[in-house]
Amino acid sequence: MNGFSAALFKYLVVLFLCCRLSQVVHSSSIKNTEKIKEIETTKQLVFAKPHDAVHTHENPWYEHQPIFREKDTQSWSYSNTEAWPFLFPTCAGDRQSPVNIETILLKDYSKFYFGNYGGINRMVVTNNGHTVLFSLPLSYSPESVPYITGGGLPDRYNFFQFHFHWGSDSSQGSEHRIDSNSYPAELHLVHYNTKYGSFANATNYDDGLAVLGILITVGKSSRSAFRTVVDQLSKVENDGDETTMEKPISLNELLPSRITSFFRYSGSLTTPNCEQSVVWTVFDNPIVVLEDQLSVFRNLKGKGGLILVNNFRPTQPLERRVITYRSHTGCNVYRNWLLFPPRIKDVYQYCICRLLHLFM
Ligand SMILES: [Zn+2]
Repeated sequence: MNGFSAALFKYLVVLFLCCRLSQVVHSSSIKNTEKIKEIETTKQLVFAKPHDAVHTHENPWYEHQPIFREKDTQSWSYSNTEAWPFLFPTCAGDRQSPVNIETILLKDYSKFYFGNYGGINRMVVTNNGHTVLFSLPLSYSPESVPYITGGGLPDRYNFFQFHFHWGSDSSQGSEHRIDSNSYPAELHLVHYNTKYGSFANATNYDDGLAVLGILITVGKSSRSAFRTVVDQLSKVENDGDETTMEKPISLNELLPSRITSFFRYSGSLTTPNCEQSVVWTVFDNPIVVLEDQLSVFRNLKGKGGLILVNNFRPTQPLERRVITYRSHTGCNVYRNWLLFPPRIKDVYQYCICRLLHLFM
C-alpha cells in the first residue's frame, strides 16, 4: 500500500467512525427526547392528582379531561367510601354531606324564586361512570340560564347541572336520610354563586354552591319531565357515553309539588374532593316516579363496565352543625306546638306571621 492508499484508507476509517458516532448521538438524542416526553407525561399523571383538580361528578368540565378520567377511575368508587378521607383530605372535614336529618331548628326563610326554570333546549346528557348528569350546552345563552334566589340564600345562584343517585333496589338509594329513612333515589340540582364567576371557582368558598336535594319515592304515576329524563338513559348506557336531548325539559317539573318547606344546612359535595362549599336545601316533600323508571337507571353501566347502582355516599357526622327548617307556612312557631303546649306569646307571633304571609 502506497502513501496515497494509506491516507485514503485512514480517511475512510475516520469518515465511517464519524458517521457511526453521529448515528449514536442522534439515536440517543431521540431516545432522550422520548424519555423527556415520557417523564413529562408521567409528571402530568403524577402531579394531576385528583385533589389538585376540580373533578367531581358535579363538574362535567372535569369529566371531559381524559387524563383525569383515567386517574379518577383508579382513585375512588362507591365501594370504598371509607378510603376517601385518606385519598382526599377534605372528605375528612367537619362539614361533610350527606347527613341524616333528625333534630331541626325552625327558621323564617323567605320563599324560593326560580328564574328561567322552564324549558331548556338541547341539554347534554353524560354517563360519567358515577352517575348520569344533565348539563347546559356550551352554547347556552347566558341570559337564559336558570337560577335561584331567595329561600334564605345570600345571593343569586346559576344552574349548572343536575344528576341522580339511586340504589340497587328501592330500599336504598338516596344520599340524605330523614329520621334515618332512606329513599329509593335522590335528584341533585347543582347551582353556583354568580359572584364567583364559575362553578370551579365557587367550590373554593363556603357559600359557593347551592344544591337542591330532591328525594325520590316510588308511586303509580310520574311527571312528564321525569319520563323525558328516563327516555335519555338508553342513549348513555356505558361510562363515557354522551348525547344531546332533542326535546326541551322543564326544571320546574322536576321540583316537588310543595317547595315552601325544606331543610337547610352547610355541607359539601358528596363525591371527592368533597369540597365544603355547599349550601344544602333538602325538600321534605319527595317527587314520585314509577318503579319501572328506576329499573332503567339500574341497567346503566359505570366504571369498568360494572352495573351502576348504589352510587350514594353514606351519611356523615353532623358534628357541630345545626339543620334548620322552613315550615310550609314560613312561620316558625308552628311545629313547636307539636312538642310543647303553645304559649300565648307563640300563638300571637304565629297569627301575625300568617297574616303577613297572606300579603307577601
Ligand atoms: Zn349528587
